Amino acid sequence: MNTSKSNTAHVVSWTVYPTVIIFGLALNFFLLNSGFPLQISAYIPIILGVVIITFLEHKFPYRKSWLPKTSDVRNDAAFMVVVQVILPRILSLFVAFTISKYIKSKGLTPAEYWPHHFLPIVQAFLMVLFADFFRYWFHRASHEWYSLWRLHAVHHSPHKLYWINVGRFHPIDKTLQFLFDSLPFIIVGVSGEVLAIYFVFYAINGFFQHCNIDLKLGFLNYIISGPELHRWHHSFIIEEANKNYGNNLIIWDLLFGTWFLPTDRAIKELGLKNRQYPLDFANQMRTPFIKDIDQDQV
Ligand SMILES: [Zn+2]
Repeated sequence: MNTSKSNTAHVVSWTVYPTVIIFGLALNFFLLNSGFPLQISAYIPIILGVVIITFLEHKFPYRKSWLPKTSDVRNDAAFMVVVQVILPRILSLFVAFTISKYIKSKGLTPAEYWPHHFLPIVQAFLMVLFADFFRYWFHRASHEWYSLWRLHAVHHSPHKLYWINVGRFHPIDKTLQFLFDSLPFIIVGVSGEVLAIYFVFYAINGFFQHCNIDLKLGFLNYIISGPELHRWHHSFIIEEANKNYGNNLIIWDLLFGTWFLPTDRAIKELGLKNRQYPLDFANQMRTPFIKDIDQDQV
């Protein structure tokens, strides 16, 4: 009985990540080509991914102690809705309106700087590559510059990792990220189809990156910023946390010397030095403006 359970866990740990990512992208492609609207063709694979990941977190948790309480999920859900769904839409509408007005007035043609004639999947890959490059440096600056760290500390505050706390960012941090990983692509006029493919990969990969499933990515740990690498990024120990900045890919960390995956030990504590740092949505709107609140409290 135990052997059969451990065999299943072993198969799940090695196969779930590539299977769900490939299935999600294939379903998105199928729905787009069947005439479904862009948003529906993106959200259906993402919702299915969420259902599978939630089930597996409870069936094969990496740490049972990381399973969230209802109060954790309530606060994470508030971040997911306000910061990850509503805020990007407001920014996109506002920015798209302002930029298109400015571009028109100046007679500029930024669209010529993007290979719109490439296959959508190739364009989406290029988008991941460039967006991750910009995000790598912004993320690294957010750890190395204290004024940015105060905002980013919100994301590092939980003492556990599970899929839904991937959305926990302060709205100002999210707005700055938008300038790096979305605005350049709005300016060059990347098509809705390409954005949908990017969004499906970005969302499902992000959920896996934070998930509490005992996943093994093998050689993909040299390409993808997955859960085995990202757990170290949330370490309580600062030297371990200032590593693995990749948002989707880990190749920029490999190139710039911040790739980190110890094989001789498991991650210990997660979170900030101040173990009493507030974890609820309302208080986390103001914690970046309270000096040294992330530090040891005496
Ligand atoms: Zn970080």
